[in-house]
Amino acid sequence: MINQETRFMKISKECLKCHSHDIVKIPGNQNIAEGRLLLNMWGTKVLLLDKYICMNCGYYEKFAAIDKNARKWLNDISEKNKKQDDFDEFV
Ligand SMILES: [Zn+2]
Repeated sequence: MINQETRFMKISKECLKCHSHDIVKIPGNQNIAEGRLLLNMWGTKVLLLDKYICMNCGYYEKFAAIDKNARKWLNDISEKNKKQDDFDEFV
């Protein structure tokens, strides 16, 4: 049985695919396109994306760093989703 901790490489430090423990963390970086997620076109709302890469098989996971600002921006987007019903169109 898989518990909550083993489903996240950032917590378990174990690859979900090959079970290797050679996991390296690449911290989010707003100066690198792969290290961020822009929430608006002006670049004033940026989520940093931390990546956890298995050095054995290459599988990786990405997690957005959720700080106080990120939580506020995401809450705003969530409210818009509810009003516009856009979210359902992507599911
Ligand atoms: Zn692996």
